[in-house]
Amino acid sequence: MQAIRAPAAFDGERFLEGGATVLVDGERIVGVEPFGFDVPHGTEETSYDGTLLPGLIDTHVHLVADGTPGGLEAAGALGDDEVTTVVRRTLAQQAASGTTTVRDLGDARYLTLGFRDAASPGVPRIVASGPPFTIRDGHCHYLGGVAEGPADIRDAMAEHVERGVDVVKVMASGGMLTPGSDQLGVQFTAEDLRLIVDLAHEAGLPVHAHAHSLRGAWHALAAQVDGIEHFSCLTDTGMQTPPELLAAVAAAGTVVCPTIGWDRSMIDPDRMPPALRLLTERMGLDPDSMVSARAEQARQLRAHGVTIVSGLDAGVSPPKAHGNLWRSVLELVHAGFPVEEALATATSVAADVCRLSEVTGRLRAGLAADLLVVSGDLRSEPTLLAEPVHVVIRGVPCSPPVP
Ligand SMILES: [Zn+2]
Repeated sequence: MQAIRAPAAFDGERFLEGGATVLVDGERIVGVEPFGFDVPHGTEETSYDGTLLPGLIDTHVHLVADGTPGGLEAAGALGDDEVTTVVRRTLAQQAASGTTTVRDLGDARYLTLGFRDAASPGVPRIVASGPPFTIRDGHCHYLGGVAEGPADIRDAMAEHVERGVDVVKVMASGGMLTPGSDQLGVQFTAEDLRLIVDLAHEAGLPVHAHAHSLRGAWHALAAQVDGIEHFSCLTDTGMQTPPELLAAVAAAGTVVCPTIGWDRSMIDPDRMPPALRLLTERMGLDPDSMVSARAEQARQLRAHGVTIVSGLDAGVSPPKAHGNLWRSVLELVHAGFPVEEALATATSVAADVCRLSEVTGRLRAGLAADLLVVSGDLRSEPTLLAEPVHVVIRGVPCSPPVP
């Protein structure tokens, strides 16, 4: 048995006064005790001068893409061996940052499922969607998930189910990384989108829809998806999040993953995808106004009681590198969320939404020993989330973290 102590602790929902001692036996947490707890004789003990919390859960990643420009598109064209090498590297980046579970929402050829099933020591747990459903020439068509019309959709869903995906991802609007896709419009007819949702639900799978446009958000909501990714609510006159939409999302219990958090130092206007540059110019948005508009929207989502999870959309571009989930969490803190609530979007709430509440996401006996220790007191200095000092995945330490 091992014991990990820290004078500050967050259990996935709240800070534990005075810190905690977490007891680990094999892959599991077997006890969460006070900081000064007398551990049983023979227990291997490690103390950290920092904050102990559950390993983070990034609910929106693309393991097949390494954050280089065009990386996601390249994953559709590269051979399996090359893509597998990328996945191995991006998983290591996630682990090093303290992210112990990832939900992959856009795979190429189901390659992440092998990593999920291998459950190798020290490698993050994966919740996998396989290739996202999209239309011909639609967003991320190059990942192989094109299916239009009832017959195609039934075949594609049967394949996803047969392969054993955990979740279904569908592109309900165009996307920034696919020139020619309709970023401000919708993808799929209402009937096709509803069929995807119904078939997934029949198979017991939740559906999460990509929607950058306001029309796409309404489209996804009407089809009764379980979650909306991005939720950028773009129109040709900028970002608009009408109160009726927020109320409808809240009433339906639809989860929103706003995928906020950019590494601003990596935003290079000269290397921005042309479609994205044109779109932002047309809407009169620059990175600064976009960030403040999304922060305001996050406040409104919270005020309406919408369930929010953190996810970076890791891997899609240089400002979205793997292992940067802390940026999503900090954006919520900057928007005015209490630190506990922001951290919960990347731990307990994320686990619940990923249907992993009996597996991970909290410091609780019986759950997996997925742990993160950061330096210092996270409650007073949330930016320390970017500074992992110890990471444990299913009881296996991954420290010292590799940069
Ligand atoms: Zn994505």
